[in-house]
Amino acid sequence: MEENSPSKEKIPDKCPHCGHKLSPWQQVLLNVDRILTCKNCWYKIILTAPTEDQTETDDESLGSQNDKE
Ligand SMILES: [Zn+2]
Repeated sequence: MEENSPSKEKIPDKCPHCGHKLSPWQQVLLNVDRILTCKNCWYKIILTAPTEDQTETDDESLGSQNDKE
């Protein structure tokens, strides 16, 4: 049932920070990696998942794993 919109997500065609136009290849990378660094201003363009499937992990249970010095 995904024939109409396989992955119809809002892939920005330009950097939302500086407005630098992204090449088609950069848009592909952004679509795949969900993240792309603008070559112009080094702004990290991050795509957020449209689905709110994941629960918020604001628990302190996994805080020890990502312990910061
Ligand atoms: Zn930029």
